[in-house]
Amino acid sequence: MATGSINVSVENIFPLIKKFLYSDHEIFLRELISNATDATLKLKHLTNIGEIKVEYGNPFIEVKIDKENKQLRIIDQGIGMTAEEVEKYINQVAFSGAEEFLEKYKDSAKDSGIIGHFGLGFYSAFMVADKVEIITKSYKDEPAAHWICDGSPTYSIEEHDKADRGTEIILHIGEDDVEFLEESRINELLVKYNKFMPVSIKFGTKTETLPKPEDAKEEDPAPTQEVDNIINNPNPAWTKQPADLKDEDYKGFYRELYPMQFEEPLFNIHLNVDYPFNLTGILYFPKLGQDMNMQKDRIQLYQNQVFVTDNVEGIVPEFLTMLRGVIDSPDIPLNVSRSYLQADGNVKKISSYITRKVADKLSSMFKNNREDFEQKWNDIKIVIEYGMLSEDKFFEKADKFALYPTVDGSFFTYEELQEKIKDSQTDKDGKLVVLYASNKDEQHSYISAAKDKGYEVLLLDSPIVSHLIQKLETSKENISFARVDGDHIDNLIKKDEETISKLSDEEKESLKTDLEKIVPKEKYTIQLEAMDSNASPFMITQPEFMRRMKEMQQTGGGGMNMFGNMPEMFNLIVNTNHELISQIKDTKTDKKKERLIKQSLDLARLSQNLLKGEELTDFIKRSYEMIK
Ligand code: ADP
Repeated sequence: MATGSINVSVENIFPLIKKFLYSDHEIFLRELISNATDATLKLKHLTNIGEIKVEYGNPFIEVKIDKENKQLRIIDQGIGMTAEEVEKYINQVAFSGAEEFLEKYKDSAKDSGIIGHFGLGFYSAFMVADKVEIITKSYKDEPAAHWICDGSPTYSIEEHDKADRGTEIILHIGEDDVEFLEESRINELLVKYNKFMPVSIKFGTKTETLPKPEDAKEEDPAPTQEVDNIINNPNPAWTKQPADLKDEDYKGFYRELYPMQFEEPLFNIHLNVDYPFNLTGILYFPKLGQDMNMQKDRIQLYQNQVFVTDNVEGIVPEFLTMLRGVIDSPDIPLNVSRSYLQADGNVKKISSYITRKVADKLSSMFKNNREDFEQKWNDIKIVIEYGMLSEDKFFEKADKFALYPTVDGSFFTYEELQEKIKDSQTDKDGKLVVLYASNKDEQHSYISAAKDKGYEVLLLDSPIVSHLIQKLETSKENISFARVDGDHIDNLIKKDEETISKLSDEEKESLKTDLEKIVPKEKYTIQLEAMDSNASPFMITQPEFMRRMKEMQQTGGGGMNMFGNMPEMFNLIVNTNHELISQIKDTKTDKKKERLIKQSLDLARLSQNLLKGEELTDFIKRSYEMIK
């Protein structure tokens, strides 16, 4: 038996490892299984190129818990190590690497959240074990070696009688880490990190039901058998060629990735590049609807089929983090902070590649099957609109396929919309005015008023739509947007109105005086308009600009906070050609006049959803009195 001292200057490195890596110590299993996988793949490679002649067979990795002896074992049938190699790889190289790492990151590493992605490798075993043994037999014709290290910088190494090729790592789990002796905990970790690793991983057995034999009676239970429990799929869909996959395969993989997700994805994008960086993956568009806060089931980042994280911030452009799926790239540096990551050349290229691929996919869907694209629009618009807002490159492309639905269920592209309204919806300055509603029910009366005039009304109901409109108005020429209940619409309607007022100027003056007595002027600006006698007598509109600024503040961004604190101001448009208005004008008693105006104003407020609480209760009470 030989003993030696591991090549470190730090007197006792293990407490340090434990301390620094505490937050993420579960990654030890990922590291050890990665090593076992490497060892297996090395053997495969050497066999393939004919350098060694062994029976490669169908090697697997096995994880075993021995609760009684407080041991966790990771066993592979890979390339193995000779005693000399253990000395070289385990005692020197790896350890100095670990020491260097700790030295370098002593101060910064603790809370940075970056730990776990740096490949400390074998020594991460000491995060959970007081003592570690390696029993390993090389494919070379040499005796097996048995290495033991109890956490102090000294180790022992001696011969072992292990006869079959491969490596067994035995972890003597420490007091603080007994959770890693629980089957459920280990299973959880294997599923999280190793679900798609390229070598089969066995963890225990499971019971499988077999078909009943022909001559079995009805009441006989179906026979069962114990089979190996293989926890991973070594050939996940993203590692295959798109040409070899059918729609069903993509859907199947989605279920594999997110077993708790019952809704099918809308479509997917297969990523596959090897120059100037290496990246594979599959992104899925889920049905998003109005929901922007999808925190669970996020995109997962892998490196060579090993799970790294489901926080892809900085790697995938923000607007695409709402998607699901997998990206796998060995070219993403992981041992750096997020801000460093965003400055990395490769990462920038990866991010713009992903953006381009998504835009291209959407564009080809739009071109190949517009009807289908329209049907999906409501579920994907948030991503597209958000992308148009945040990435100029994406805006350029999406401008050709982004859709603007009308309240009647037609869809226009921006260009089509422009064409459609160019003759009918311009204001005094010749600017195109796009009318839109944000809620079909709440703005129903305004929508039908606009439609009666032959205007096209869009239905723009995304939470970020005010930002998008602002962006369109500034990046496009000669266009403005007006919500159907906004004040801009007045310009448009007036132009069309040739209706002659039934009231003389004097009559208007006195009507205005009457109204001003009752209508609170700190809230409403009164405007008398001669409109069609069928149009509402009182209508409330809100200044477009003010409303939009407030909305933008609510959904984040939008700059100055001053708008949030501004009191709400409205326009009260009074249709002087309506019969009720003539009636108000002609009413003799002040009391009755006041009642008519109050009731009409409340009805206008009610139709804009502005009548609430006590005022609403009073209104209803008053209405009952009147019809009694
Ligand atoms: P890394 O894997 O990053 O090289 P490690 O500290 O994890 O660093 O491992 C150091 C070396 O020890 C490996 O490069 C490999 O040569 C050897 N090794 C580790 N685990 C095994 C194993 N299960 N089978 C064969 N060799 C191994």
